[in-house]
This record gives sequence, structure tokens and C-alpha cells, in this order.
Amino acid sequence: MIDFSHLPTPTNKNIAIKLKPAAERAVKQGHPWIFEDAITKQSHDGVAGDLVVIYDKRKNKFLAVGLYDPNSPIRVKILQANQPAQINQAWFTEKLLKAQSIRQPLIDKGIKGYRLVYGESDHFPGLILDRYNETLVMKIYSAMWVPHLQTVLSALQDTIHFERLVLRLSRGIDTDKFGLFDGQVLIGEAVTEPIQFIENGITLSADVIHGHKTGFFFDQRDNRQRVRELSNDRTVLDVFSYVGAFSVYALVGGAKHVTALDISQPAMDALADNVALNNLSPDTITPMVADAFDGMAYLAKQKQQFDLVIVDPPSFAKSQAEVDRALTSYKRLVQLALPLVAPDGILLMASCSSRVKPDTFFNLIINTANQSGYGLDIIETTSHALDHPIGFPEAEYLKAMFVYIKK
Ligand code: SAH
Repeated sequence: MIDFSHLPTPTNKNIAIKLKPAAERAVKQGHPWIFEDAITKQSHDGVAGDLVVIYDKRKNKFLAVGLYDPNSPIRVKILQANQPAQINQAWFTEKLLKAQSIRQPLIDKGIKGYRLVYGESDHFPGLILDRYNETLVMKIYSAMWVPHLQTVLSALQDTIHFERLVLRLSRGIDTDKFGLFDGQVLIGEAVTEPIQFIENGITLSADVIHGHKTGFFFDQRDNRQRVRELSNDRTVLDVFSYVGAFSVYALVGGAKHVTALDISQPAMDALADNVALNNLSPDTITPMVADAFDGMAYLAKQKQQFDLVIVDPPSFAKSQAEVDRALTSYKRLVQLALPLVAPDGILLMASCSSRVKPDTFFNLIINTANQSGYGLDIIETTSHALDHPIGFPEAEYLKAMFVYIKK
């Protein structure tokens, strides 16, 4: 365990606030965010991680307790609403046990890589915790968790079995002064190589220190299983492949050949490792390190076609202002993917931008295909896997559509 002596501890003085009526209603209904402009009264200025108690405007009744974040327009993130609570180790323990029980169906299936805590939906706003076998990776998105870190770690050690805990930090958190850094091992042995874990009987590995987010994307687990079922005897193109999770599932499912396309060479190297880990022949996979838009245009120019095309891009809309541009990019990707799908082949299009709503995304796929002279038979539309519960509207981000493409 690292030395926590220079970490701040929670201040004793809770901040008291009152809200505008609409925000009050939202809090009562369980929405976990309070924006700064919804606050009408505040007892005093605080520091990141102070506990905030929200009182009812008229009767001064307890409404909720949350964490203060002076650096975010979402000034308070709610831990618990409607029922007063002492936020202490016992409270974190209770929430961790609840989170684990939600994932029990995955644990029972022998799945060793999953999201144990998904932020607000599991009462840990701005904090995620992913399990990779015996390694837990905690990513914090706000400095408001720093004063509570020791308590959360103690709760974890008391409740959850694990051997190592790695800290990942969102950009913009000024943690240097506390001696924390991204990729720091807080508990357990140093990480010297990618961590292996089993998902649906498939062995995968993740670089939990440098990889995207915590190193891997568990949210696509069910879609990958679907891809495995659809891959037998098919040729597959995996666009935005990252470390090749879809590619490996396709090969295990009997795909004849997979072409994986991603801009990142390290991701492609990790893909080769994941292929080898499952005793699959390297000849069954063609890696392409290129920009996805250019790479797809190149493949079309070569008149290449695939029986199954998977397009799983990164989030294009990180803010509301970027939504229109994101929609343009999705449209472009569909236009590029369509000619790459062999006759009666399948397209899987996914979006992880929470600001692009499922209906908007699905309609965009249908309209773009129709405008380009293609017909579609929808196989199914899907959302997150079970370990990413949608506790409030903004927590919904992943949507995917499987379609047969007809010329
Ligand atoms: N499909 C993956 C997750 C994709 S994450 C899975 O199931 O695990 C998004 C990936 O897109 C990252 O690997 C990133 O390197 C890649 N990427 C981002 N911009 C890109 C671009 N313009 N062209 C190709 N790949 C890109």
C-alpha cells in the first residue's frame, strides 16, 4: 500500500445548499447531478470532495447528500437522495456489495473481466472500477474523490477479493500535489505485463496502465458474443478494432479471416498477442494500421468485401456542441462501410456518444443506407452489457445495430 499521509482527508464542515424548483424535483426523482446555476443558496465555499447536504427550499427538509466539485459546472454529484446517510466506510461497503451483487450473473458465468462500479449508476459518481481478474482498476474523473480515497480503499479491501489496485486519472485532475499519478499501483505488486482475463471462455489481455480508459471495453461483451455467433465461415472487417476483442471473438466463432483496422500500432500489437493467447493462427488476421476513414476508402477502391463489417468508433461527441459533427462522421462511416459489405452480409454499427440518442443513431443508419441505394433488414439493436447499468438518462451511451445489407 502506498503512503497516503499527504492525501487530504474530508473536511468536517459540510456545505449546505438549496436549489431552484426544477433542480429540486430532479434530485427527488433521483437525478445525480446539480449544476452550479441551479444552486440558490450555499452556506460557504468549499473544496473538492466536501460533503454537500441539499435541503428542501420551503421546509428545510433533507433532500440529498453529495460531493462538491468546485472545478466542474456539475457542482454537486449526489451520493444518496431522499434518505439521510452518514457517508463513511460502512456506506461505501454497502454500495460496493450492492454493485457486486448486480454483476453476480457475470461472475457466475466465470467472466473475469467486468465493470464492478459504473459511476453514478452505482452511487460512485465520477468513479469507475473495472476488474481484470485479480487486478482492480479505478478511474476517477474528478478530484472530489481524493479526500475519500483512503476510505473507499478500506471499504474495498474489507468487501471485495482482489490482489492489486491500479489508479487511472482523468486528464485535468491536478493530483501531483497529492503524490498521485495516472497508472499508479496503489495496492499490490507492480504491473510488468498486460493483465490476462477470461470473458465468455476467451482469454484476453489489457494494458491497464496505458490503455484507453482502464485498458479494455467491457461494455461490448454481449455484442462480441453476438459477433461470435454470426461469424462462422464469414470474412470479417473489424474497424476501430483497438486490441482486437471483436476480431478474436469472430475467429473463435469460426470466421475464415479477419481484417482489423485501427490507427494505433500499440493496439495492433496487443491484437496480435490476443490472437496468440487463444491459439489462433496469425495467418487468419490481417492488421491494417491506418485512419479508419482512409482505410475503408482504400479497401473499397480495392473492391474488397467482407461478410461481416464491424464499425465501433470512439466517442465523437464529447460535448453538446460536437453533436452535429459527430452525426456527420457517423453518416460518413456508414457510407464507407456499405460498399464493403458483401451481398447478404451483415453490418454492425456502434456508437458510444451518450449525446447521440439511440433513435437518432439508428435512424441515421437506416436513412443513410436508403439514400445510398441499399436496403436493410434489422437483426437487432442493443445497448450496454449488464455491468453498465443505466441509472439515469445520461448514463446511457452505447447503442449498436446489427443489420443485413441488401443491394
Ligand atoms: N472496438 C474496440 C473498441 C474501440 S475504441 C473494442 O471492442 O474493444 C476506439 C479505437 O479507435 C481506439 O483503438 C483508437 O485507437 C481508434 N481510433 C481513433 N481514431 C481513429 C481513426 N481516425 N482511425 C482509426 N482508428 C481510430
